[in-house]
Amino acid sequence: MVKAVRGMRDILPAHTERWRRVETSILQMLRSYSYAEVRLPLLEYTELFARGVGEATDIIEKEMYSLADRDGDSLSLRPEGTASCVRALEEHGLLYNQTQRVFYAGPMFRYEKPQKGRYRQFSQIGAEAYGFAGPDVDAELIALGYACWQQLGITDRVHLQLNTLGSGAARVAFRQALMDYLQPHAEALDPDSQRRLQTNPLRILDSKVAATQAIVKDAPQLIDFVDAEGLEHFQALQELLQQLGIPFQLNPNLVRGLDYYTHTVFEWVTDDLGAQGAVCAGGRYDGLVERLGGRDTPAVGFAIGLDRVVLLHELAHPDHSDNSADVYICVTSAEALSAAMQLGQQLRGAAPGLRVRVHMGGGQLKKQFKRADATGATWAVLCGAENQDDELVIKHLRDAAIGQRQLPVAEALMQLQQI
Ligand code: ATP
Ligand code: MG
Repeated sequence: MVKAVRGMRDILPAHTERWRRVETSILQMLRSYSYAEVRLPLLEYTELFARGVGEATDIIEKEMYSLADRDGDSLSLRPEGTASCVRALEEHGLLYNQTQRVFYAGPMFRYEKPQKGRYRQFSQIGAEAYGFAGPDVDAELIALGYACWQQLGITDRVHLQLNTLGSGAARVAFRQALMDYLQPHAEALDPDSQRRLQTNPLRILDSKVAATQAIVKDAPQLIDFVDAEGLEHFQALQELLQQLGIPFQLNPNLVRGLDYYTHTVFEWVTDDLGAQGAVCAGGRYDGLVERLGGRDTPAVGFAIGLDRVVLLHELAHPDHSDNSADVYICVTSAEALSAAMQLGQQLRGAAPGLRVRVHMGGGQLKKQFKRADATGATWAVLCGAENQDDELVIKHLRDAAIGQRQLPVAEALMQLQQI
């Protein structure tokens, strides 16, 4: 048998119910904040990501799945959603003279070392707001994330880390100061950080290597380079978060891997997933639209790493049901098959969301009950000779005290829907 590609996972029926629940919960929260969905292609010109994400980032340097199109163009599977989102909104004139609050969801691809919580195909749900320069929308996006964790019952497993990178100019000045400070220590840095010294020195700040961390400890602080306007923005955001009752921790070394961030950066992190601690990351990227060829447009957003959120949900709710049916219709005589299928239709129509499975393949009732039990269904319905015209036999599969009973059809249907 040909196996799946390394780092590409199958999510099997025993897990898809949980995935659906987590996804639906987040997507509904986004809608309830009145964010509108955009659906974006999986393939884009490689140049979009090189320009959008930044040449000197891990993603562009070593994580992209790129291929040559038949006419020689270089295409890449999207490693993240923001560059595509900007491209799409700009291409369709949706950033001109208007604001946008949108979200996207779907798989992303990065050539990484697969491990728990880190895959080569993974899922993100991202939210982005365009045309808002103030800290109000930064706070809204953080509140939206917080509301998602509350709804999923994982609030006590994640905490918010917050930092500001200041304006683009502050970042340039800081970058130089940081390089000047690190240069004399270059030999003592780990090889990755040595390489980044010239290309992306800010990334050295969040290196996990102890020797590098020891050097970084005394480096110049980014916050000292942030101008008055940047500080005001950051202060206002913190006040709003306090008023909203959202706890946070300032982390001066939080810089984010992508090149395009300015001002606010944040990460929701957990201690429960080992090294894969970030479950949602975001911030402001006021320079990105212009960098991709559009007009100067303020922008802010985040991306949730769904795979990690699902792992957290599993820890928080280990007993979550992975049933595949709620009602199982047993067919006790060959002649009753069409009646059973029609009854299934009737039930599905009456109770959207109810999962109704009709037994297929015949066989003894005992075997059918076994199958019904394996789906996790609460009720079995017997469809066959035992049916009187206007009555149904239903059996509770989880509570012997309720057991099997024969009820008028309308009453039976009511029972089955109450799950
Ligand atoms: P990390 O530091 O874990 O590599 P990142 O900074 O590269 O994360 P982002 O590009 O900001 O991640 O993506 C946002 C979120 O997507 C991350 O916080 C994480 O939850 C998730 N994510 C990123 N890469 C992966 C991956 N390879 N597998 C699973 N989830 C991922
Ligand atoms: Mg990464």
